[in-house]
Amino acid sequence: MPATALLRHTLLQQTHQLRDDALCLHIAGSHGSALLLWLQVAPLAGGLARGLLQVFASHAALALENLQLYLSINDLAFTDPLVRLPNRNAMVVALERRQWPDGTLALLDLDGFSDINSVLDEHFGDTVLCAVAHRLVTELSAHALVARVGGDLFGIYGRADRVTAENLARIFAQPFVINDGEPLRLAATAGLVQMSNTSISGVVALKHAGVALKQAKSRARGKSMYFEPTQIDAASDRMHMLNRLRAAFSEERLFLHYQPLVHLGTGRVVGAECLLRWRRSDGRMVPPDIFIPLAEQSGLMIALGQWVVRTALLWRRSLRGVVDEDFRVAINVSHAQFAEPNFVDVFLLLLCELQVPGAQVEIELTESVAVGNVQQLVAKLTQLRAAGVRVAMDDFGTGYSSLSIIQRLALDKLKIDRSFISGAQAQNNTFEIARTIITLAEHLQLATTAEGIETQEQCEALLAVGCELGQGYWFSRPLAEADFPQWLHHYSTSQSQGESNG
Ligand code: C2E
Ligand code: MG
Ligand code: MG
Repeated sequence: MPATALLRHTLLQQTHQLRDDALCLHIAGSHGSALLLWLQVAPLAGGLARGLLQVFASHAALALENLQLYLSINDLAFTDPLVRLPNRNAMVVALERRQWPDGTLALLDLDGFSDINSVLDEHFGDTVLCAVAHRLVTELSAHALVARVGGDLFGIYGRADRVTAENLARIFAQPFVINDGEPLRLAATAGLVQMSNTSISGVVALKHAGVALKQAKSRARGKSMYFEPTQIDAASDRMHMLNRLRAAFSEERLFLHYQPLVHLGTGRVVGAECLLRWRRSDGRMVPPDIFIPLAEQSGLMIALGQWVVRTALLWRRSLRGVVDEDFRVAINVSHAQFAEPNFVDVFLLLLCELQVPGAQVEIELTESVAVGNVQQLVAKLTQLRAAGVRVAMDDFGTGYSSLSIIQRLALDKLKIDRSFISGAQAQNNTFEIARTIITLAEHLQLATTAEGIETQEQCEALLAVGCELGQGYWFSRPLAEADFPQWLHHYSTSQSQGESNG
């Protein structure tokens, strides 16, 4: 019988075929696979030889089984089952082998991915991860290893001129189209480690990248940061600070200050922004710019933010009869807080419970909220505005939201960041940026508040270019609750004296 016929026959019969001049062994593997061995041999004499062959075949079958098992364990151990990319183990091995001795490792985290997962369904989140994996591989895999090292964490290790902060930002510049749906804008924050001149292990390299990532997240979402050894100390300092902040919050040692918002044309006080304050037990004040990002990262911001809303609303209620009906308390709402699926419901419930009309409240969001699902965002903002709450975009000009998004969001006002009013930017550009933002706001039919007004000249210049509202040390520093009515009284008196004198 020709060899091919014998092989076919063996496969069909699934048993060894012993012929006078040849034998074909059938070695069964797992999942219906089989290995066939065809050997040209002298005629087999006696049962012993046949028996030995049988033993050999069963050993070979076992070896095949083991091999297949090994391959699938290998696959499980080194491949991510969802995006079919190398996983964390594979990345550690690649780093240990120093495939790119002068290369860079980037640990990249998708901003707001947990919101995508919690607000939309999990399947959508999986699809987003696959789309990101595909984009990273397309853009980088010729010169780098791309791996999924955790939930929404990707590791990229490769040539230093490819794995750069700029390149990563460029890769995320275009929106992602998921399930042929609406384009989804995603941003990522990354921690980078230069692998040259270090002898650290793969695990430590990933750890360092993680430290840099945390630092980058606390400073500037959507940006990247390189690892520096001092960051390890900084990380432990942050841990201590967070512990102290938690304690201060639970012991009710946090409080709010209130900074007046003034109508520049009439000088009327139209509201006040509430600003969170933390005085440590040693008496030192910790700036909110420092502790709020920390609270955001740790999840504490949700509870903290709710406390701020409640306290601010109670304060507004206490001002009944002291201020005009349309006086608004402006509350800063952080990205993490606003992204909570039940944020709007809880907020509206609080208005109801504390009997503060929506028309006496304003919320300030930063441009970072524009990352993520715009439709969801618009729905939330519309619901708030329907209750009379006004929505301002805070620190406008410092973030990265696109104009088209600003146009689509249901906003009432832009707050021009103080760096364009009294900061270094203002000195360099002499109000040019502020003026441009005011013109833009006019086109979009939005009001404007200039923050950080420190001098009369700044105030007049802003009024001249059509800015409606202002806030800053020129009018008042943020005030303690007890000092606010007194300031209001003095201010109103000096205003009316000014009017009667003028
Ligand atoms: P922001 O919302 O832009 O608040 C305005 C900041 O400008 C405040 O700093 C205020 O004290 C400061 N400021 C006001 N007038 C002047 C001025 O004339 N010159 C200068 N140089 N600065 C002025 P603060 O209180 O340190 O707050 C910093 C940031 O912390 C806030 O910026 C806001 O983003 C955040 N923040 C404060 N309180 C809260 C809060 O309750 N929740 C959230 N999510 N964020 C808060
Ligand atoms: Mg603000
Ligand atoms: Mg601001």
